[in-house]
Amino acid sequence: MDHFTLIDGALHCEGVPLERIAREVGTPVYVYSAATLRRHAQVFREGLKPAGRVHLAYAIKANPNIGVLRVLADEGYGADVVSGGELSRALAAGMPAADVVFSGVGKTDRELVKGLEAGIGQFNLELEEEGVVLAALADARGLTAPAVLRVNPDVDAGTHAKISTGKKENKFGVPIDRAPAIFDRLASLPGIDLRGVAIHIGSQLFDLAPLEAAYRRVGELVAELRARGHKITHVDLGGGLGVPYRTHDEPPSPADYGAMVARATAGWDVELMFEPGRVIAGNAGVLLTEVIWVKPGVVNPYVIVDAAMNDLARPAMYDAWHDFSAVRPTGKTMTANIAGPVCETGDTFAMGREIDRVERGDLAIFRTAGAYGATMASTYNSRALVPEVLVDGDRYTVVADRIAAETILAAERVPDWL
Ligand SMILES: *Cc1c(COP(=O)(O)O)cnc(C)c1O
Repeated sequence: MDHFTLIDGALHCEGVPLERIAREVGTPVYVYSAATLRRHAQVFREGLKPAGRVHLAYAIKANPNIGVLRVLADEGYGADVVSGGELSRALAAGMPAADVVFSGVGKTDRELVKGLEAGIGQFNLELEEEGVVLAALADARGLTAPAVLRVNPDVDAGTHAKISTGKKENKFGVPIDRAPAIFDRLASLPGIDLRGVAIHIGSQLFDLAPLEAAYRRVGELVAELRARGHKITHVDLGGGLGVPYRTHDEPPSPADYGAMVARATAGWDVELMFEPGRVIAGNAGVLLTEVIWVKPGVVNPYVIVDAAMNDLARPAMYDAWHDFSAVRPTGKTMTANIAGPVCETGDTFAMGREIDRVERGDLAIFRTAGAYGATMASTYNSRALVPEVLVDGDRYTVVADRIAAETILAAERVPDWL
C-alpha cells in the first residue's frame, strides 16, 4: 500500500497534488511519501515480532536522502552503510553510530578508521584479511571493533543476475565452509570482537525458499562455531525482500518472511539483525515527469518524457518495469513506447505498453521509484541532477536540490597549459 492516489481526478502524494510539486519544483523530480515510509518501517518490524530480539538497519544505499533517513531514524531504524559517504549520511540524519552496520566488499583503510572513530556498532567483514587489518587499526587506537563475518552460502536467490549476491562465484563474503578456520584465526587477534556471522543473498527476492535454505546453513555454521568454542551473539540476515513493481506482483509479505525467520532461526539464541532496503523505500517514491513529445513511431508512438535513464537507471540496467500513470488520467488509454531524451537506445522505460493516454505537456509518474532511483542518478548527457521532495500530510520540502548542469560545469577546468 502507498499514498499516491487520485483525489478529484488528479494524483496526489498524501495531501499534496503532484501538479503543485511540478509547478513549484519543476520536473523531473522524485517525490517520497513519509507516511508510506513509516508504514513500511512499522509493517516490517511487526512482521519480525515472532523472531524475537531484532536490530533493524535500513540499507541506506536504497535511498540515502537524509530526509528519508530521518523518518526511518524516528522509527527506530539504524543503518546498513557500504561506504564512508553513507556513514556520514547516517550520522548527519541523526542515527546513533552504535546502530550502524558497515557492509561492503571493498572498504578502504580510511573507511575502516572512519567507522572506528565514529564508534559504529558493527563491521561486516567480507574477507579474512579485512579482519586482520581492522583488528590492527582498532588495536593501534586502543579500540575493539565489533565484527561479524559475511559468509557466502552458495544458494541461487532466483533474482536478476546483477542483484544476486549469494552464489559462490559472486564477489561477496567468504565460502561458508572456510568460516570456521577464519574464525579460529581472527578470534585470537586483539582489537576485534568477532561475534557472529552475516549473509545477504540478493535483492528483489520473491521466493522465500532459497532464503530459508541459506538461513538453515547459517544455523548449522553457528552450531559448528560454538562447538569450536566461539561465542556467537549476533547473526545478520541481510535484506533482499522484494516489492511489487506491477499491480499483480505478489512478493512475500513481511509477515510471511517473519514467520519463516522464526522457523529457521528457532533456538539460535542470538540477536538477529536485518538490512531491509527496497521493501522500506521502493513503493514510497515516484518519479514525476512531463511529457515532452508524443512522437509517431513505426509500430507504436514514442512518449518522450523529460525523465531519462540518468534519473532512473533501473530499466536500462536491469530491464526493470515501472508502472506509468498519468497525473490526470482521462480514462482513455494508448499503446506506446516510453523513452527519455538521452542519446542511448537503452534510455527506454517501456515498449509497446498500454498506458494512460497522454499528450505533450501532461504530467505522469513512474511508480515504485523510491528505492534505487535517485541514488543511482547521474548527470549523463550533462543533464541536471534530479531533485527530491519529501511529503508529509499536506506539506512538502525539497530534500535534495536540483543541481544544474552549470553548477557541475563550474567544478571543471581547462588546464592552463592548453
Ligand atoms: C543492498 C544490500 C541490502 C539491501 O537490499 P534490499 O534488496 O534493498 O533489501 C542489504 N544488505 C547488504 C549487504 C546489501 O548490499
